[in-house]
Amino acid sequence: MLKVGLTGGIGSGKTTVAKIFECLGIAVLNADDLSRQIMHQNQAVISAITNAFGNNAYLNGVLNRKYISEIVFSDPFMLSVLNAIVHPATIQAAIEWTCKQKSPYTIKEAALFFETGSAEGMDYIVGVTSPLSVRIQRVMDRDGISKAAVMARINQQIGDEVKMKLCDFVIQNNDQQLLIPQVLNIHQKILGLVV
Ligand code: ATP
Repeated sequence: MLKVGLTGGIGSGKTTVAKIFECLGIAVLNADDLSRQIMHQNQAVISAITNAFGNNAYLNGVLNRKYISEIVFSDPFMLSVLNAIVHPATIQAAIEWTCKQKSPYTIKEAALFFETGSAEGMDYIVGVTSPLSVRIQRVMDRDGISKAAVMARINQQIGDEVKMKLCDFVIQNNDQQLLIPQVLNIHQKILGLVV
């Protein structure tokens, strides 16, 4: 099974592009959703997070996302601790998910591929890029957060310029180019690579 990664900075349009691939019959896994599920259900992960972040990490058994987010987005070391706890379990669950799919190839959508080393498990990587000002405004509108909060998240990631150079295919999600024709074009190319 050919494994394709879909990445891009916060607010670049990954989920929007992923929905178009889904409409083409491609199985898509959202790494954020998967890691959220793991943080709620995997006992070893829950214990490690509680040890690292304290008892406020879970309130009545529910992950205290606001508390964790505030810590990790202002402290790169604690972000690396959280990633070190959650990523190995997420990668394993993604492998299990991939084995069960029947589509010609699968897509794993994640903001962090190159940052975590998980790009190595992928056959090809599709990048989505969008002007910084557009990304900031879209995330402020979508999540109802301040520009400073969006910038703090963007500053934790590798810049788009570097990230896109590492991708095999790049989708421009700006106001000039239509998304659907770009996705169709890449979909056809990937189908041509499926053996
Ligand atoms: P995150 O990394 O934060 O999950 P993302 O890269 O998955 O973000 P999306 O959620 O797809 O990005 O897009 C961010 C916001 O911008 C969403 O509200 C989405 O509806 C909107 N958006 C994305 N692309 C476009 C577009 N081409 N035109 C208009 N709105 C768009």
